[in-house]
Amino acid sequence: MPPTLLLRNGRVIDPSQQLDRVTDLWVSNGEIAGIGPQSRTADRTLDCTGMIVSPGLIDMHVHLREPGREEDETIATGTAAAVAGGVTSVACMPNTEPALDTRMAAEFVIQQAQRAGFCNVFPIGAVTKNREGKELAELGGLVEGGAVAFTDDGAPVYSAEIMRRALEYCKMLDRAVLVHAEILELTQGGVMNEGFVSMQLGLRGMPGIAEDIMIYRDMVLAELTGGRCHILHVSTAGGVDLIRQGRAKGIGISGEACPHHFILTDETLRAFDSNFKMSPPLRTQRDVDAILAGLKDGTLTVLATDHAPHAPEKKERELDQAPNGILGLETFLPLCVTFLIEPGHLTWPQMLEKMTINPAKVLGINRGTLQVGRPADVTVIDPKAQWVIDKNATKSKSRNTPFHGWKVTGRAVATIVGGDIKKNELN
Ligand SMILES: [Zn+2]
Ligand SMILES: [Zn+2]
Repeated sequence: MPPTLLLRNGRVIDPSQQLDRVTDLWVSNGEIAGIGPQSRTADRTLDCTGMIVSPGLIDMHVHLREPGREEDETIATGTAAAVAGGVTSVACMPNTEPALDTRMAAEFVIQQAQRAGFCNVFPIGAVTKNREGKELAELGGLVEGGAVAFTDDGAPVYSAEIMRRALEYCKMLDRAVLVHAEILELTQGGVMNEGFVSMQLGLRGMPGIAEDIMIYRDMVLAELTGGRCHILHVSTAGGVDLIRQGRAKGIGISGEACPHHFILTDETLRAFDSNFKMSPPLRTQRDVDAILAGLKDGTLTVLATDHAPHAPEKKERELDQAPNGILGLETFLPLCVTFLIEPGHLTWPQMLEKMTINPAKVLGINRGTLQVGRPADVTVIDPKAQWVIDKNATKSKSRNTPFHGWKVTGRAVATIVGGDIKKNELN
């Protein structure tokens, strides 16, 4: 008999099977072995009284930087940060150097993740060779190597014709195309959202419509082809509206929200701190309210971080020289609890659905559920824990977070990946 682990007396929430009750969860042989009283004995017991027991969290939008930019992050440090944050699976973006655009590159990422031994990593392949937007990458070969979706994230797929063919091809492969929506002529040289604040600060802006126009383009291409597109990091009220309309028409479109886009606005740029610089940029309160509404009414089905580590010397440059993006993996859960659960925007099952089974569905991966027989990826959450985010306590190689010193609620206290306890603050 393989060793059996018992997670005793937690509030087990599994949106994939509409489960929400205080009970026991059993893990054996790397799989979920049972829920509720069982006629077996446990070799090890974690007392989860007062805790939430969830399917392992999935972050489907992560930049791990390896290969090519190991000064910012490696697969080992990024996945260590994931486990610390209660994330058991990440999907990693292909804007590495070289780009993740071949079967071998996908296999390399999976191999490095296995060597590191922290969490599951699902590579996302590039849509075009070297992400140059000129020629489709070998999408079929990438899938054989383990790629679960496609994107040129960091940049849009600029040619509508190539995007059309990518959607057609991905339809045959039953894979989604993940969209970084940006009309580059409109954002050229921009460092923040275009609006009242950018005008006052005299900084070059990036208008919200630069995002909306491309969301619309890819939505109608998805309609034409019958393919599936997933809009990454939705930041505008207009974008939320378009996705809502598309879904109502039955078009294959989904969208994700990142914590910074529903917590922060462009007002933060008044500090001229590059930790508030990202792409798409922080927008206005009106956009924040629209994203919250979209999360609430089910338009935005996925929560993800866009974890984007940059070495300190890069982020410390002047605002217009500094790269875009912030860390996400270790602040993901507490920020969502503090800004979605605490104010009453979402319930626990609604929030966890967007961090477990919904991203698993977009990627078509066998995760995000506590169904018996499935891989035992489990996150145990203390819903009441209050703590202070400390950028110096991160497992990431980088330190670029705007949330340093913020008081938050909710913490991953145990992270179990494939039945192995990777983090445990319980006992
Ligand atoms: Zn992006
Ligand atoms: Zn990204």
